[in-house]
Amino acid sequence: MIVEYHRPRTLAEAIELLQRKQPRTYPLGGGTAINFKTEEPIAVVDVQALGLDTLEQQGQLLQIGAAVTLQQLIEFPGLPSALGDAVRHQATYNLRHQATVAGTLASADGRSPFGVAMLALDAQLKLIPGERTVSYGDFLALREEFLPGHLITMVTLSLQAKLSYEYVARSPADLPIVCAALARWPSGRLRLALGGWGKTPTLVLDGQGQEGLRLAAQSAFSNAADEWASAEYRSHVAGVLAQRCWQDLGE
Ligand SMILES: Cc1cc2nc3c(=O)[nH]c(=O)nc-3n(C[C@H](O)[C@H](O)[C@H](O)COP(=O)(O)OP(=O)(O)OC[C@H]3O[C@@H](n4cnc5c(N)ncnc54)[C@H](O)[C@@H]3O)c2cc1C
Repeated sequence: MIVEYHRPRTLAEAIELLQRKQPRTYPLGGGTAINFKTEEPIAVVDVQALGLDTLEQQGQLLQIGAAVTLQQLIEFPGLPSALGDAVRHQATYNLRHQATVAGTLASADGRSPFGVAMLALDAQLKLIPGERTVSYGDFLALREEFLPGHLITMVTLSLQAKLSYEYVARSPADLPIVCAALARWPSGRLRLALGGWGKTPTLVLDGQGQEGLRLAAQSAFSNAADEWASAEYRSHVAGVLAQRCWQDLGE
């Protein structure tokens, strides 16, 4: 339950509020997830007046302000089309106008298509205080450590990578039972991430060469059972989707 609402105008003010011990204070992006967060009384710091809604390309890097909405992101002309597909799959048109890039990445569970795609693209998150840059993979592994008292201000990704995104769901608009995102850089670097299961998107491989891609995907989901699907099914489908992504990249 939200018991305090703040809309600071400076990052310093925002950090001061976020670092209070009581009440526990969280950044508020679009508010679409945090509104359901807890019964505990919490305070929120709305990020909308902090100037974090810029979206610009610098060379081959896309710099996405934390408060950019998912809809603004998919309207960016140079966005890889498969990333746009993952964003559309993440949230409906109405939600996309409200949900922010940072809020979606911070709250992503294993079923998050956008989280899976950004993990494959090796997105980098800038956090304050401390001006620290961490990869999304490291952030996911230590989310509980990185988030308290901190604010994501910027998300950066390389536009050099080609991306493919494939999924299986109960219906086209449902969140995935299994999804795969494969990014390939001109250097030959390949990164495969899987989703549809677990607490976070899963990084399967980061390296050169596609030998063993299918097997790696199968193995990563060999225990991926829950109420939606058996591990056997997920493992099989993960291998198929990884292979499909590879073919989609024109290989
Ligand atoms: C009913 C419903 C069900 C959903 N189910 C799923 C699901 O199963 N899987 C899934 O992946 N997505 C799901 N989503 C979509 C998604 O998680 C969120 O709705 C949305 O994308 C979050 O973005 P937001 O900007 O509204 O975040 P908010 O609700 O504002 O914040 C979400 C979290 O991110 C933190 N946060 C926000 N901004 C920042 C920042 N700048 N720096 C640091 N932390 C920040 C907040 O403190 C909060 O903890 C669901 C959405 C809805 C409405």
